[in-house]
Amino acid sequence: MQVLKFGGTSVGKPERMRQVAQIVTNDAHSKIVVLSALSGTTNALVAIGGALALADKEDAKTKIDSLRAHYAAFIEDLLSTKEKAAEAKAIIDEHFEFLRITLKISFNEALNRDILAQGELMSTKLFTLYLEEIGVNAKLLPALEFMRTNEEREPDLELITEKLEAILAKESDASIFITQGYICKNHKGEIDNLQRGGSDYTASLIGAAINATEIQIWTDIDGMHNNDPRVVDKTFPIAELSFNEAAELAYFGAKILHPASIWPAQKRGITVRLLNTIQPEAKGTVISTATTSEDVKAVAAKDGITAIKIKSSRMLLAYGFLRKVFEIFENYKTPIDMITTSEVAVSVTIDDDTYLNKILIELEKLGTVEVDRNQTIICIVGNFVAERKGVVNNIFEALSTIPIRMISYGGSRHNISLLTDEGFKVEALRNLNAHLFDL
Ligand code: ASP
Ligand code: MG
Repeated sequence: MQVLKFGGTSVGKPERMRQVAQIVTNDAHSKIVVLSALSGTTNALVAIGGALALADKEDAKTKIDSLRAHYAAFIEDLLSTKEKAAEAKAIIDEHFEFLRITLKISFNEALNRDILAQGELMSTKLFTLYLEEIGVNAKLLPALEFMRTNEEREPDLELITEKLEAILAKESDASIFITQGYICKNHKGEIDNLQRGGSDYTASLIGAAINATEIQIWTDIDGMHNNDPRVVDKTFPIAELSFNEAAELAYFGAKILHPASIWPAQKRGITVRLLNTIQPEAKGTVISTATTSEDVKAVAAKDGITAIKIKSSRMLLAYGFLRKVFEIFENYKTPIDMITTSEVAVSVTIDDDTYLNKILIELEKLGTVEVDRNQTIICIVGNFVAERKGVVNNIFEALSTIPIRMISYGGSRHNISLLTDEGFKVEALRNLNAHLFDL
């Protein structure tokens, strides 16, 4: 069985949704199809929740009505038979009735998550209805019956596997299953989600749970690119990546794949293919356990980074200093991305500065602290073997005009990271593109 996930833009217009139907019915493979909400929907639902949180019912109502109008137009175009159009209207009515009720009851976080779940619930029901209309037998599998998170809001893969296996064991005749991305139930049994962009994660978790033959992530670009196509000309899709390379890239900028979605597939060694709904024949990017060539695969950047340097003569020849530094970040649940150390100082970077001020107060007890905001991590991803000469040389040659604040090399063989001011990002990416790839 395969898992195919389609993102919001792939189902965001009726003609795109029809195209998705073509893709999923194109071969005889049995499959689970994971859908996001129609593009723009989750943002709209976030805004509705935001208005309700501020007790601005007027604003919430306007937003609900405008979203409803969008869906009314969508189903009118999507379905052509009277019968299915009426069924679609009943579905939309039911979900918007729920949204209207939220205007009358007291708002809380659990209700907000229920609101956020409406997008995927609607997209999957409408898609299943369309498949029925064109004579395709597909079965809707409610994600809320098997996707589970634990106390830490992390997916519970064992429980998901157990529940999904039990559900599928009863469904011997269908070969196309449709389910919702993103949404789940938490350990308290409440409706919850895997956080924004979480549909990729759903697909990977399902793939791992059913030991799928393959996981396909369908978007509207032709795979992961070797550099950021928004600011660099002449980028190209990377044909093959290892899981480790893909994980580095997904985290550092390549928006096409949710970073958390790597581990479930990697754990079970299931190949992940990134494909393009607009160009279904294109090869895209294959992420697998196969070893890839020993060279640079891609360059990516992550903005909005804060660098913090802690300098202390107490660090000299002392042990336990780093532990104290890390503990402070841990206490504020703030992940550290890059680290470099010297004998008397350590520099770290963070991208979440919610608790920065509190962290700084604690760090100042350990030494002198300097902070640089608006930094960018430029990350070069590939398969770098220590014996191979010249890689670092090439990188520095490309970056000869860029002031570099930190360098991290050797942490893994798949990543070389450099920190620079955000203002130098585009120049750095362009220079690396020209220097590192045969274009
Ligand atoms: N609909 C959700 C979002 O917009 C999940 C997803 O599309 O992956 O974040
Ligand atoms: Mg996405």
